[in-house]
Order: sequence, then structure tokens, then C-alpha cells
Amino acid sequence: MTEQCGICGERVPFDATVHLLVNPQDEEGIRDRFVCQSCHEAEITPLFQRR
Ligand SMILES: [Zn+2]
Repeated sequence: MTEQCGICGERVPFDATVHLLVNPQDEEGIRDRFVCQSCHEAEITPLFQRR
């Protein structure tokens, strides 16, 4: 089983994905995305480390 990374587009094994749930307060509601570990570390983790 594989998922497509939402950032780089690679198909990665399910075990190597990070599942992101985004819940904006708009009419489209919750979106879920999978990203690969390397994109998560490169793109997502820094977002939460900024001060
Ligand atoms: Zn990726």
C-alpha cells in the first residue's frame, strides 16, 4: 500500500508517510494529506519551530 506525497508527489510506502489533518474554519472542512518523511522534515517541521 502506498500514498502519494502531497508535496513532492512521490509515491511512498504507507509506513513512511506522515498524515496531516488540516482543519480550516471554512466550508470545505477537514482536508487530509499524506507527505513523505523527508518532505515532512524539510517543509512541515520548520513551520512549527519558528518563533
Ligand atoms: Zn515528499
